[in-house]
Amino acid sequence: MLKRTWWWRSTSPLLICATLAALLARPSRVTAQEKPQLVRTTPLFDFHSNFWVNLHQALFHEAKLRVGKPARGVQSAAPLSASGMSTQDEAQWNAAVSFYAEHFGTSQQFGPLGNDELIQINDNLAEQPDDGARLNPAALPPEIVAVLQSAAVIYRKYWWPAHNESNENWIASQEERVQSLGPKLASAMTKDLHQPWPAAPIRVDVCYYVVALGYALTTLPPHTTFSSNGPANQDLIGFELLFHEASHSFADTVMNALAAEGRIQHKDVGDLWHALLFYTSGVELRRVLPASGQASFTPYGYRYQVYSGGNWPKYRRVLETDWQAYLNDKIDFADAIHSVVAGLP
Ligand SMILES: [Zn+2]
Repeated sequence: MLKRTWWWRSTSPLLICATLAALLARPSRVTAQEKPQLVRTTPLFDFHSNFWVNLHQALFHEAKLRVGKPARGVQSAAPLSASGMSTQDEAQWNAAVSFYAEHFGTSQQFGPLGNDELIQINDNLAEQPDDGARLNPAALPPEIVAVLQSAAVIYRKYWWPAHNESNENWIASQEERVQSLGPKLASAMTKDLHQPWPAAPIRVDVCYYVVALGYALTTLPPHTTFSSNGPANQDLIGFELLFHEASHSFADTVMNALAAEGRIQHKDVGDLWHALLFYTSGVELRRVLPASGQASFTPYGYRYQVYSGGNWPKYRRVLETDWQAYLNDKIDFADAIHSVVAGLP
C-alpha cells in the first residue's frame, strides 16, 4: 500500500517525477514562434461531497469536543445536536464518538503531532462512493469499518442531508470563480513556485467539519479536505484559501531551495516556506482580479493575521521586499531565494 506522506515531512516521489519530467521535457531553447501553447485541458480540481469522508470528519470533530481538548479548528463549533434522537440512536452515535475519542481524541489531524492513521482513513474513504451506498472494507482496519457502518445509519438520518447541502452549495458558489480566475491564478502560482500543478485534478473533499487550522488540510499525494462551514472559507477569501491549499501540492521545489539556502547561509528558515505560500497566493489572486476588485481585496494572510506569531513577522518583511521583487520580475528565482534567506535575522 502506498504510504501517504505529510507535506512538511517528506517529498512525494510522484511530484519529484512530475517535476523532473517537466524539466527534462522542456526544450533547451525555443523561439517565440516555436513556443508551444501549454493549455491545460484537465480541470484544476475534482470536487466531492463524500458521505464517508464527511462522517469520518464529523466523528473526529465530536471526539475532540468529547475529550475537552478541541484544536483551534473546533473552538467555536457546538457539538452536533441530539435533539429529537431516540435513546437507541443516541447511544449508537455516542458509541462511535467514544471510539474516536479513545483512539484519536488527543491527536491532531494534521501538523507535527498529526496522526497518520486519521489521514490514511481519510484518503481511503475518499475512494468510497460519494453517496455512502456501501463501504468497501478493503484497506480499512476492521474496527474502523464496524464503527463507521454503525455510525453511518445515524449520521445519514440526522445530519448528512444538511451537511451535504452545505457542501454542494459551497462547491456551486466557487465553480464560476474556479472557471474564470482559476487558470490564470494557477499559471501565476506555478510559475512563481517553479513547479507544475499536479497532472491530475487535485481531489478536494468538501466536508461540513474539518478540524484543522483554517478548517482545511492538504496531504500528498494531492488531497485537500476543505470545510464548507468554515467562517473564513467562503466567497473570494475561501477561493484564495483553496489555492493556498493547492499550493502545498507543488511546493517541494521552493521548500527544498529555501532549506538548501538556509544550510549555506547558516540560517534557520523554519516555516518561511509556508508564509511564502500564503503570501504568493494572496499577491497573485489580487493581480488576476478585475481592476475594480483589486483595491478592496485584502489577502488571507493579512485579513486573518497569519503573519503575526513567532517568526512570521520576520518572514513577512522578507516576503514584502525580496520575494515581492521576484514576483515583480525584478530578480530571478535563485536570487530571490538567496535574498529572502539573507534578509532573515
Ligand atoms: Zn498551508
